[in-house]
Order: sequence, then structure tokens, then C-alpha cells
Amino acid sequence: MTSAAPSRIAVIGAGIVGLTAALELRRSGHEVVLLEPEEAGGRQAASYGNGCWLNPGAIFPISLPGLWRDVPGFLLDPTGPFVIRWRDLPGIVPWLVRFVLAGRNWSLVERCATARFALCRTAVDEHAALAAQAGVPELLRRQGLMFVYRDRAEFLVEERVWRMREAFGVAFSEIGEDELRRIQPQLGPGYRFGARIDDGAQVFDPGAYCRALLHLAIARGVGHVATRATGFVREGARLRAVRTAQGDIACDKAVIAAGIGSARLAREAGDAVPLISERGYHVVVPNPGFDVPTGLMPSDGKMAVVSTAQGLRVAGQVELAAVETAPDWRRAEILLGYAKRMFPALAPRIEAGTVDRWMGHRPSTPDGLPCIGPSSASPDIFHCFGHAHTGLIQAPSSARLLAALVDGRTPPFDPAPYAARRFGR
Ligand SMILES: Cc1cc2nc3c(=O)[nH]c(=O)nc-3n(C[C@H](O)[C@H](O)[C@H](O)COP(=O)(O)OP(=O)(O)OC[C@H]3O[C@@H](n4cnc5c(N)ncnc54)[C@H](O)[C@@H]3O)c2cc1C
Repeated sequence: MTSAAPSRIAVIGAGIVGLTAALELRRSGHEVVLLEPEEAGGRQAASYGNGCWLNPGAIFPISLPGLWRDVPGFLLDPTGPFVIRWRDLPGIVPWLVRFVLAGRNWSLVERCATARFALCRTAVDEHAALAAQAGVPELLRRQGLMFVYRDRAEFLVEERVWRMREAFGVAFSEIGEDELRRIQPQLGPGYRFGARIDDGAQVFDPGAYCRALLHLAIARGVGHVATRATGFVREGARLRAVRTAQGDIACDKAVIAAGIGSARLAREAGDAVPLISERGYHVVVPNPGFDVPTGLMPSDGKMAVVSTAQGLRVAGQVELAAVETAPDWRRAEILLGYAKRMFPALAPRIEAGTVDRWMGHRPSTPDGLPCIGPSSASPDIFHCFGHAHTGLIQAPSSARLLAALVDGRTPPFDPAPYAARRFGR
């Protein structure tokens, strides 16, 4: 229960971040209403189409020392995992510069990893508890997650990051070729070594999981209004209402958890957060003919490969482009190409017209950390967005931190790294 008087709180956005925030704030005793114009965790949301990975070792930002050396190669390789849409480049450059600088040395990376680990450490258990409470325990698969490499030498190139994971207490096992084939007999001959995050897990159907969390929230008394938030009504610094497409919704507090839609609202709340879309894609092959018991990530395609309720999902690619730019479905074909190379038995199983293709927006800040905490313009408006590549795993711990900050309780871990003010105002 909250130590402060219960508030009426509007949570803007019902992706995984807004849903877990609403549940946690309700648990603290607040009156909560979710504002979401679309289906919770529907196709518009990153929470629908992600790679399903719950990786407690997801402690590294994408920007690591030396990345700038790789960028030209990435940009020139149209089939690689990272591309920029040239037309949109001018709008992206300022973010890109901050992104490269954020990972310019290992001490910055270590600081970021510490803050990221706080959001990942207990997340698999938190998701397991949520899935059980929502009546869908089967949507969480706890059979580890595995990075697969050409051979051990290729793994050793990344040894530094694996040893850092180990230092944080993230257990991993080296998996030799025989064991690898036992776990995943369909893997092609190009992969002969694995590194398994033993405590990793996956969500079997992220869209269904979000829907189940919405039902749980409603059963616990959370309100749900199908509308889009457009701004805030304030008297001085105090919040009076959230302005929506259907009129003002009175509340004393609001949480901005609108994924890629958050930047505009955050600006109105006094924080100019550099948030861009790192667009990602997925393909789902129905009836692939085999299960992937331990989610995989190949070193070449750098994509999550998982079994889901709909079939084999291959999710990845980073495409820097404006939100409104049309999808480039060649990115989905590239993912499918990697999957066919990874599993030689897959191609003959693919029936024309049955592969589902999806594109979505990772809401990304340049420094690899989300914004969680009060806004600059009002102590009543809180941020909870910007989870980029790892919002699925980070959502429950983000919600716990957020609820403590809303209530003025001692936070479960240091909130400073997530303050939106780090980007200036
Ligand atoms: C290809 C890909 C693979 C990924 N793989 C993983 C993974 O394996 N593991 C992992 O942890 N993470 C992964 N992620 C990242 C993860 O999916 C996101 O970080 C996370 O889903 C973000 O959740 P969110 O709730 O902030 O945003 P979203 O899920 O995008 O939800 C935001 C919601 O806000 C609503 N909204 C927007 N504007 C408004 C408004 N003005 N008013 C009201 N509502 C509004 C939208 O309709 C939407 O429903 C991946 C992402 C992608 C794209």
C-alpha cells in the first residue's frame, strides 16, 4: 500500500511498460486508469512483435567502444543487421553522435550495465509471478537462452562482455558442438558453439501476455479508456487532467508510457528527450516442423529465434528511420534468409503466402537507458519509457521503481541514471 494518500493516476499507453506500471501502481493502492487507443499489446506496439527474450544478461548498451569503426561497414552492407535510411539521416545524426559517445569507453559501459542490470536482475521471476497471477503461466518458458557462434574462437572475440556478465552474477554455460546438436538438432553446420544464459526465459506469445495483463489489471480495478492522450492540463506545476482525443480525463498524476509516442508528451512535461525509433522487424513461419526449446541468437544475424504460439519467430534488425517512413520489407526477407541458413530444413516447410511480417518501433534513447521518474515541468507527471531493445524484460522492475518514486518511498535501486534531466531540458 502507498505511504502517501492514494492518487488518481492516468497511465498513458498499454504496451508491456504501461501495463506493468498500471498493475504496480494499483498494488500500491492508487486509483488507476489506462489510456490506450489501440488493442493492449496489439500490432502497433513493440510489445507485440519483439523477440520474446527475457535475458537477465541484457546489461550492455548497443553502443560499445569501437562501434564507430564498424558503422561504415554496417552502412555499406545492405544485408547486415544495422541500416540507416539515408533520406532520414539528417534527423538522426544528433542522436547517432550521442549514441556513439555514450559507449566511447568501458567505464561508461560499466556504469550503464550497472543501471541496466538493476532492471533485469529479478525480472524473470517477476514475469513468472505476473504470468501466474494473470492465469497464463504457460506463456513463460524458462529453458535458458543461447547465443550461437561459428566456433569457440568467435565466442572468444566477445569474451570481455561474457566475463562482465559473469561478474554481475549472470550464470552462463559454454555449450560444445555435440551438446548444441542435442539441444537443437536442426541447426546448420555453420554453428558449432553456444553460450547459454542459464536463467534466461522467453514469453511464448507477447501479444497474448499483454492482453492477459490487461484483463488482470481490469479485474483488480484498473480503468481502461480507449483514447489517445494529446497533452496535459496543469495549474502551475500541478496536474489536473490528461487531455485526450475524447476530452479531458481528470487525474492528480500521470505516467507517460507510450513507447515511441512518448517523446512529444515528455516535451510537454518539460523534458526534451532524444528518443528515436530503432525500427525492428519480425517474420513468423507457421508450422516450421520443429521446436526451439532454448531461444537462440546467431552471431551473424543477431536476431532472436524463438518458438511462439504462432510458429517460429525471427525478430531483429536495427533500421534507423523516421517513425512515419514506410516499412522496408526487404529487412524481413533478410531475417528469413538468415533463418533458412540457420535451419536448412526450414525452407521446404515454408508455404507461399503464410509467413507473417511485422515492423515495429523500439523507443530508444542514445545512452541505452530508459527514462523513469518525475518530469521537469511537474512533480505529478512521471516518465516510464525509452526501453529500446529490452523493454519486455525491463518492464516489471521499471514499474517497481516508478511506483516507489510516485509514492515517495525508498526506491528499490538508485533512480539517478534514469532521470530524463540527464539529457538537459
Ligand atoms: C524487433 C524487436 C525485437 C525486440 N526484442 C526484444 C526482446 O527479445 N526482449 C526484450 O526485452 N525487448 C525486446 N524488444 C523491445 C521491446 O519490445 C520494447 O522495448 C517494449 O515493448 C516497449 O514497450 P512499451 O510499452 O514502452 O511500448 P509499446 O509496446 O510500443 O507500447 C506503447 C503503447 O502506447 C500506445 N500509445 C502511443 N501513443 C499514445 C498516446 N498518445 N496515448 C495513449 N496511448 C499511446 C501505443 O498504442 C502502444 O500500445 C524488441 C523490440 C523490437 C522492435
